[in-house]
Amino acid sequence: MADTFTPSVASRAFGHGRASVIHTARIHFFPAFPAGEEWVTEDTVTDEEGRAVLGVNSLLVEAGPETILVDPAWWPAHETKLGPEADLEVGPPIDRSLASIGVGPADVTRVLITHGHPDHFNALLVDGALRFPNAEHLFPLADWEQWVVRGDGYAVDEIRSLLRPVERAGKLRLVDGDLVVGGGVTLLHTPGESDGHQVVRFEAGGERLYYLGDLFHLPVELRQLDWAPVPGRDAVVLQESRLRVLRDAAAAPSTLLFTHGAFPAWGTAAKTGPDSWAWRYL
Ligand SMILES: [Zn+2]
Repeated sequence: MADTFTPSVASRAFGHGRASVIHTARIHFFPAFPAGEEWVTEDTVTDEEGRAVLGVNSLLVEAGPETILVDPAWWPAHETKLGPEADLEVGPPIDRSLASIGVGPADVTRVLITHGHPDHFNALLVDGALRFPNAEHLFPLADWEQWVVRGDGYAVDEIRSLLRPVERAGKLRLVDGDLVVGGGVTLLHTPGESDGHQVVRFEAGGERLYYLGDLFHLPVELRQLDWAPVPGRDAVVLQESRLRVLRDAAAAPSTLLFTHGAFPAWGTAAKTGPDSWAWRYL
């Protein structure tokens, strides 16, 4: 089965660095936006059942001595479900995609995790050991406290089993607020999807690249900044985080990508109103 996969990677130069989007899976599901509201825009991919088709994209940034992997995802080749609602199409294994651009697991200097949902870090381990054995793993403190310490939310057991070995290996660093990581990479505290959610900004050669994690899931959310496709999130906090990042990105030539965009997921945001933006894939 796994041998049918070919690596799926899109790379671009940023200054002296390189950024590569790595496709790992596709998700099919019906988002829970306000009933009757149109959520399919020009740039929204849907399947024959009318469900949204979301990508799952990891990012690799190579800049000077840093090889930084963001939200590494991996599923067994036979997996077909993501939670009770969504169908999953597993893509190429992340190791094979990294190898296709000359990066081995031991080369990764840091793993950045945007938030505590396991589809953003289920590649951390191989047979219980660290897949990226030399990397410092940066995880948001508020999400650690929620899932690992308090055991509050879904997939607590999975999340604990992914993170405890990292902690035991002395490779876990918990992040509280914004953080300059190195190599032109900064973490921006952007709560909403979770209390600790963080966006990754890479600056090089006068350009910026934003890896948005789950700040957005679908293009319509740039037009409707208070919409979230999963109910129960704090819309006011989420909207403030979205505005912060969109305004920050407007200050320089910027490329944006979100974890669940359609591969290769590179895009731009253009302002269309006071609190409204339009997404365009590049
Ligand atoms: Zn996600």
